[in-house]
Amino acid sequence: MSAGKNPSMFDSIKLKLLAWFLAVFFVIFTLLGFFLYYELKEIVIGSLDNHASSEVTLLAGILSKEEEHGHLEEGIMELTSAATGEYAVALSGHYYQMVDANGIVLGRSPSLSLANKYLPITSMSEEPVFEVIIGPAGDPLRLVTQTFQYTGLRLTVQVADSLIDSYHLLYSFRTIILVAIPAIFLISISGVIYISGRSLRPLNAFSEKVGLITEKSLKERIDDTTPVKELRPLATSFNVMLSRLEKSFARQREFLSDASHELRTPTSVIRSQCDVTLRKERSEEEYRETITNIGKAAGRMTAIITRILDASRLESKIFHLKVEKIDLHELLDEAVRLLTPTATEHGLKISLNERKVVVMGDKERLSEVFVNLVDNAVKYSTKGGRIDINLSEEGKYAITSISDTGIGMTEKDKDMIFERFYRVDKSREEIPGSGLGLPIVKAVLDAHRGKIDVETEEGRGSTFKVYLLKH
Ligand code: ADP
Repeated sequence: MSAGKNPSMFDSIKLKLLAWFLAVFFVIFTLLGFFLYYELKEIVIGSLDNHASSEVTLLAGILSKEEEHGHLEEGIMELTSAATGEYAVALSGHYYQMVDANGIVLGRSPSLSLANKYLPITSMSEEPVFEVIIGPAGDPLRLVTQTFQYTGLRLTVQVADSLIDSYHLLYSFRTIILVAIPAIFLISISGVIYISGRSLRPLNAFSEKVGLITEKSLKERIDDTTPVKELRPLATSFNVMLSRLEKSFARQREFLSDASHELRTPTSVIRSQCDVTLRKERSEEEYRETITNIGKAAGRMTAIITRILDASRLESKIFHLKVEKIDLHELLDEAVRLLTPTATEHGLKISLNERKVVVMGDKERLSEVFVNLVDNAVKYSTKGGRIDINLSEEGKYAITSISDTGIGMTEKDKDMIFERFYRVDKSREEIPGSGLGLPIVKAVLDAHRGKIDVETEEGRGSTFKVYLLKH
């Protein structure tokens, strides 16, 4: 776990999904609940209003007919006494009454008169006025009041219907919504938890498996045929990484065991030389020979130890550069001079073009780079070959190309040679080396913000191009 940063609970994909789901669900369903409730209320109250209004229009129509015949008063009396249905039952919740301009009730439905009750006169407008009132039986009523002008008489007609049934309907609906939404909510949450838990299970199995892999079990592979499609590329890349790690660890182990094995020979040479020489008095000549042999063995040991140090230097990637101005031609010339005896021994010719280019860098490290590259060109060449070193400039770079007519390598090997301990196939085992030269070259060039390119063809030779920033 990374230090310093506390993982919050929302780092979990599952919880994030759940929180999002809950938030969206909550907002949508709350809005939907409100919307449906108010829509239903509009519909229920609207239909009640329609009914009461048409009742008002009906009463006004009857009275207008009666008035045409000059029987308005009788008409009112008739409406009062001849009512049927709910209007005829005392305090049924369905009422009407007719009021004159002075607020005197001229007639009312039996549902009112039988209980000796009135509707409150709240308006005398010619437009219908709708309101909610508490009725004579103490129940809520929807009241419509509208005033009509007759010859010689202004008559206000009022019709009221009980809201109890509508309120019951709305109440039931509200209860259903309040129970149903949380219930759907809970079912969905459980569903989301279940599904996300199930779909993330392969990820848990995956990370558990990854967690179990150590440097000792690099042979293990993750199942990349997992049913979760999204995990397959991850498993494949992880397996590729494991293969590379496995190879790299194997090469490292091999290198260490080779190096320690190699160290045995000079050590035993030194010991046996000492033992044998010290057994009796020796001549100066014999001592000299022994010391020379010990010196040679120590030289071999130094070479092996240098390789081990190189390996650990690469491991820690520590390169302290002593940057100074360097004449690159001079540096290459020194490398050529150093390696010419070996090249001549192998029947090879080395050439270097004349060109003065100055770069900034660490002289010792860059010398190591070029000696390594020229040494490789010598090692991996066949008798009678040529090594051409060409110095040029391109933009901000000084380019040194080192071409040989040697054995070259395949494209696959070309991609691997900068990996630590990598050596091209076993047939080259007779050529001494550790597979550390090119990784060191690359690390030094990286530290100089330079780069290296390789062009090669098996059996025909290779060209290594080193790019260094010009001064
Ligand atoms: P070493 O030479 O010690 O094996 P290097 O890291 O210098 O290690 O090189 C890695 C491998 O790259 C070598 O084993 C060799 O197979 C290949 N290689 C390097 N330089 C050349 C070259 N000029 N021509 C052909 N193969 C090369």
